[in-house]
Amino acid sequence: MKKRIVLALGGNALGSTLADQMAAVRSTAKAIAGLIEAGDEVVIAHGNGPQVGMISVAMEEAGKSEARTPHIPLSVCVAMSQGYIGYDLQNSLREELLSRGLDIPVASIISQTVVAEDDPAFQDPTKPIGSFYSEAEAKVRAGQGYAMKEDAGRGWRQVVASPKPIDIVEKDTVKALLAAGQVVIAAGGGGIPVYRQGNRLVGARAVVDKDFAAAVLAELIDADYLIILTAVEKVAINYRRPDERWLDTMTIAEAKRYIDEGQFAPGSMLPKVQAAMRFVETKPGRQALITLLESAAAGIAGQTGTRIIK
Ligand code: ADP
Ligand code: MG
Repeated sequence: MKKRIVLALGGNALGSTLADQMAAVRSTAKAIAGLIEAGDEVVIAHGNGPQVGMISVAMEEAGKSEARTPHIPLSVCVAMSQGYIGYDLQNSLREELLSRGLDIPVASIISQTVVAEDDPAFQDPTKPIGSFYSEAEAKVRAGQGYAMKEDAGRGWRQVVASPKPIDIVEKDTVKALLAAGQVVIAAGGGGIPVYRQGNRLVGARAVVDKDFAAAVLAELIDADYLIILTAVEKVAINYRRPDERWLDTMTIAEAKRYIDEGQFAPGSMLPKVQAAMRFVETKPGRQALITLLESAAAGIAGQTGTRIIK
């Protein structure tokens, strides 16, 4: 039977520079095309951390040296990142599908994610975006008004607010395209964060977590599967410790216990586990899987990955 699948692609599926991205999306397209070929309905959500950082720094530098470049809000930078990631992703998928003799339209949807204007996340920026800086460079940027934080021993990065997604404005468009047999790229970069003001949607200074946004989208379009594709084959407990153990399945109760034990790093594995739990909990029959990009098909076939079950 035809399955409705939402895939969430992480940074390694996209690369961080333009040249990286071109190469990365090619292998990403190969991994995804198999699912489409199998006849499943596929929606692709993706991250944008490096890309939105690059765009916002470029826009801001242009604004300093070039008086006619106005200030570009972060919400618009997210929209730009959806555009250029979607452009590469939809074209490489199109090419891969055509090479398999499949003439299936692929479209990226400019997607907006509704957040609460009073989400406490706006008071506590946590989401790292853009390049890594040395501590000295980070201090300079902090003096210029950026929130800077050390990112998991890898260097300093700008951090922005990451409010919880409530709704995806374009959900009915996604459903209509799926019903028409098309492949959809949506909720890119977690979606453009907006809050409601009457009939108006106002852009928010934030970047929504792509794993949470993908879970909300999967819920709203009543998907059967949420598949989070990342840089590890499975979720581990005691990760990178001598007693490390890779998990084939994890129940909601186990996941809750592991979260309490601090098994999943905030900002990397934790949001994935939480997104998977949320999706599985909201309706019986829903399945969530966390695995490697290259293992997407094997994961659905039950051969690998970590399955989150009720
Ligand atoms: P993505 O770009 O796909 O969102 P992230 O880097 O945000 O990827 O998150 C995936 C990373 O989470 C893995 O590469 C791994 O290093 C890290 N990680 C943290 N805790 C765990 C854990 N308990 N099990 C597996 N991976 C973990
Ligand atoms: Mg991540």
